[in-house]
Amino acid sequence: MGNQVTTRWVYSFGDGKAEGRAEMKNLLGGKGANLAEMSNLGLPVPPGFTITTELCTYYYKNDKTYPSDLKAQVAEALATVERSIGAGFGDPENPLLVSVRSGARASMPGMMDTVLNLGLTDVTVLGLVKRSGDARFAYDSYRRFIQMYGNVVLGVEHHHFEDILENVKRDRNITLDTELVATDWQAVIEGYKKVVEHELGRPFPQDVHEQLWGAIGAVFGSWMNQRAITYRRLHEIPAEWGTAVNVQAMVFGNMGNDCATGVAFTRNPSTGENAFYGEYLVNAQGEDVVAGIRTPQHLTIAGKEANKSDLPSMEEVMPEVFHQLDAVRLKLEGHYRDMQDIEFTVQQNKLYMLQTRTGKRTAAAALKISVDLANEGVIDRAEAIKRIDPASLDQLLHPTLDPKADRTVISRGLPASPGAASGKLVFSADEAETQAQLGESVILCRIETSPEDIHGMHAARGILTTRGGMTSHAAVVARGMGRACVAGAGDLRVDYKAQTVTVRGVTIKAGDTVTIDGSTGEVMLGAVPTIQPELSGDFATLMGWADEIRRMKVRTNAETPLDARTARKFGAEGIGLSRTEHMFFDADRIVAVREMILAETEHGRRAALAKIAPMQRQDFVELFTIMKGLPVTIRLLDPPLHEFLPNSDEEMEEVAKGAGTDILKVRHRASQLHESNPMLGHRGCRLGISYPEIYEMQARSIFEAAAQVFKDSGETVIPEIMIPLISTKKEFDILKAVIDKVAAEVISSSGRKIEYLVGTMIELPRAALRAGDIAETAEFFSFGTNDLTQTTFGISRDDAGSFLPDYQRSGILEHDPFVTIDVEGVGELVKIAAERGRATRPDIKLGICGEHGGDPASVHFCETIGLDYVSCSPYRVPIARLAAAQAALSTERANRD
Ligand code: PEP
Ligand code: MG
Repeated sequence: MGNQVTTRWVYSFGDGKAEGRAEMKNLLGGKGANLAEMSNLGLPVPPGFTITTELCTYYYKNDKTYPSDLKAQVAEALATVERSIGAGFGDPENPLLVSVRSGARASMPGMMDTVLNLGLTDVTVLGLVKRSGDARFAYDSYRRFIQMYGNVVLGVEHHHFEDILENVKRDRNITLDTELVATDWQAVIEGYKKVVEHELGRPFPQDVHEQLWGAIGAVFGSWMNQRAITYRRLHEIPAEWGTAVNVQAMVFGNMGNDCATGVAFTRNPSTGENAFYGEYLVNAQGEDVVAGIRTPQHLTIAGKEANKSDLPSMEEVMPEVFHQLDAVRLKLEGHYRDMQDIEFTVQQNKLYMLQTRTGKRTAAAALKISVDLANEGVIDRAEAIKRIDPASLDQLLHPTLDPKADRTVISRGLPASPGAASGKLVFSADEAETQAQLGESVILCRIETSPEDIHGMHAARGILTTRGGMTSHAAVVARGMGRACVAGAGDLRVDYKAQTVTVRGVTIKAGDTVTIDGSTGEVMLGAVPTIQPELSGDFATLMGWADEIRRMKVRTNAETPLDARTARKFGAEGIGLSRTEHMFFDADRIVAVREMILAETEHGRRAALAKIAPMQRQDFVELFTIMKGLPVTIRLLDPPLHEFLPNSDEEMEEVAKGAGTDILKVRHRASQLHESNPMLGHRGCRLGISYPEIYEMQARSIFEAAAQVFKDSGETVIPEIMIPLISTKKEFDILKAVIDKVAAEVISSSGRKIEYLVGTMIELPRAALRAGDIAETAEFFSFGTNDLTQTTFGISRDDAGSFLPDYQRSGILEHDPFVTIDVEGVGELVKIAAERGRATRPDIKLGICGEHGGDPASVHFCETIGLDYVSCSPYRVPIARLAAAQAALSTERANRD
């Protein structure tokens, strides 16, 4: 092939220097890059070398073979390690032992193979006996190696080795491994070697180079094992990345009582407190700390005392090494400018660093660490903002399950509305309300919910449905109310009649206690204890920084005073969507609303509307008052009709009585109004076209409320009236004329000028495409991406839960498009509408009020197309504020580059 340029496949590290750097993660993998970086920092890292991820790619592209120049590069790097340690690989007198570990670009814990103590043979083990002066240790190391290598590289199954160890222990009448002496381990070794020979038809390799190449091949091979492939698919790690292989001189934490091994975080990963936090074990190898065979001890005296442990801390047992480690901690944090997760070993009172990486942490810890680091001047505020995952703030806004508590999970649905809740199971909204009034905590379980259930959902601590997706009624309403909700737990069978729910042979009755976790979708038996969230000062501080940076405004979707107040508390800058149909379900008005819907004449409708009008006006007075002059967008009625129709005889009777007619007529009219496909039926502005008096009443209530609020408090409200489900300019114009006429009337009767805007939702593909002409008369657009997703994909938002998971599993869709906006399709329509709308009316106000307004990735998309605001449910407001700030930072950077 004549490739003259030799590729460098191998990078050495150790002795205070390295050929690699932290930035070379793609080539050296995370572990290798950080070992190099720590070496460059002068930290005590056992010397070694990294074989690059590019070699992994080569290996798979070339039929699992290596390039011809690899051998020489490995030999040279190995010689450097030998010189540094002062031992020889395979040297019978003074053997060098190495570890061989995988290390991909992204951490894949436990997915790939590792071999320790490599370089031991029947001959070199004698050298280790001599060098360590500890025969038991040397033979234990050799048997560990045969076991690990035999399994990982040679494929001999574990149980063979376990059987032999058990036999030796039985022969010696011993139960604990620690009681075995050197000669016992020698017997185990003989047994292990026989097993290998028997299983493979050849002896355990006694050539250390053969051992090394075997282990390297096994690590590269493990990149394609089933576990790793599955992990990559779940975490979206491309197979092309490959893994690196790290070969490193062994250091031993199990060579006596002046040895130890441990893991630590440079700050507390659960609280974020700036305190060294970790565990260690004297006379142990790394895996012993994680394996849980012995109880690890605390690093610091403070940690020991806080956890009421009797075991001595490292700070007491090995004060000198501890202080060295503490200095390393500060150096690493200062260098990486973030909390680190480290692994170390102490061999005969000498400290060695084996790993460092950015440590995982809780949401509360992430906030504290970011704010602290910014205040310490280690990072700037923009960096502090970028480091917080907006979605993780959910953990801080709702009660969460105590992570230490036991739980029996019986089912799993969609994590529809975060927070955890326990309570007695009830199967109807009325029962939920009754029980709640008696002081009970209840979980309302329904196959699916409808607006009639609102009062029960409000009364319940949590809502559980067996059907429906992330934008089903239950999910949207629960999020709005801040109730925990698990939606679409499809394996639960609800029997309303028997008042039971059944899953895999377990039957739960009404009145039994269950717990739901709306952050994970889990449904559990009994009451699992929760912990209350604390909105700490750091949270507010970081939000303040985010507000200084973001460009987009954040509004809320709210119609009840409670939601509106909650949203204000969380920093909402107005209401972006007030769904008036949700106001119509209160027990004291639903009958009049049904009368209105079922009325056969305009006269009948107007009679019913007259009953509703005063209540509707009061609704708006309250919202305007809470929002104190901030913009309030009110959407005119948009009900899928079926949600309003009476179902039971009792309900029909009530309506008949209210309207002064008989039940037969009501039943007949209800069946006339029945639709096959209500989501695409007589809803939204279509209702306004058929019965303009409904919108007339709503508009009048809005204007009168605005006039009254001004009269009462002097606050000027500029209502934004929004017409739903528009697909043509004509629809819009007809309904705008209705509103303008009412406005003129109220202005003349109140004698006060009222400013207002009339705009539309863009939630149908046709409206998006015709946005140019719609904007001639519409003064604002709000993207209703729930319906726009439904109608662009042609997927019913109420039924998606039953098959969308299959689409995600099959990789057809990366995300649930009802959660994260489908940028390529739905997003394209939003972009077109924004462009066409602006071309007609350059100052048109543009926002989004679908559920996507509270989803960080979708918020990011909104920033890229320059929307003026996002609107989301109250509990998502802080998430949207942070996401908007992050979006502003990255969009600004993208524009600069
Ligand atoms: C939407 O369709 O995105 C929207 C906000 O309206 P609704 O969810 O009430 O249909
Ligand atoms: Mg809609």
